[in-house]
Amino acid sequence: MKNRIVRAALLALAVLSLSGWIASCHGGAGEKSARDAERNRMVDQYIIPRGIQDPAVIAAMRHVPRHRFVPGAYSLFAYIDGPLPIGHGQTISQPSLVAEMTAPLRLRKTDKVLEVGTGSGYQAAILAELAGEVFTVEIVEPLARRAEQTLADLGYRNVQVRAGDGYKGWPEEALFDAIIVTAAPDHVPQPLLDQLAIGGRLILPVGTYSQLLELHRRTETGYERKTLMSVRFVPLVRPAEKQ
Ligand code: SAH
Repeated sequence: MKNRIVRAALLALAVLSLSGWIASCHGGAGEKSARDAERNRMVDQYIIPRGIQDPAVIAAMRHVPRHRFVPGAYSLFAYIDGPLPIGHGQTISQPSLVAEMTAPLRLRKTDKVLEVGTGSGYQAAILAELAGEVFTVEIVEPLARRAEQTLADLGYRNVQVRAGDGYKGWPEEALFDAIIVTAAPDHVPQPLLDQLAIGGRLILPVGTYSQLLELHRRTETGYERKTLMSVRFVPLVRPAEKQ
């Protein structure tokens, strides 16, 4: 009798854990909470120790499902602090770097933001959590279309994706309160400086092999510039250079 109860209890446990496993394999509630936990761990281990203090940036990093922006084969590694391949020779940036580039922009809910280098769309989603409207330009058309789809699937309605050369900015939508460039030009693109509103912030890596992250701010009379840290990004491609 006692044995039968023990066996029944074991069987029930096995069924329960198997169904949890099946749910997590099929994207059920089990997977969602497992991914939420991984994401919170990522923020606690890699983002906060980097000195990121802005509660809104931290909340956005805890919220945006990075695993949805990476190809399925890399989904398991989505909450490790590293870049991952997204196809077409490009990568999704390291989460701590996304936070470190977002925080100095000091975004407000009413801000209009331009991103150059959409890639997977992950950085655009973080911006969309913090700002009013996001415009993002990607030179590799299939990446632009895929990012647009991912952002739509996740319900982001305040992001517009365009395929094209972001060096030129997005003149029809200028001026911007903030501009972020996630590929490296060898000089600061003049069109981006021109498309900054007074008080607006521009963050970008500048250089060839390795780069320095620069923060520019437009004032009433000109521009202020600060150098933040050294970083490594893929080069900002100009259409004439494309093979
Ligand atoms: N922000 C992205 C990662 C950027 S990787 C993310 O969150 O996933 C850099 C991206 O910049 C690549 O996708 C690359 O194709 C794009 N890129 C390079 N040169 C560009 C240009 N001139 N205009 C727009 N995008 C460009």
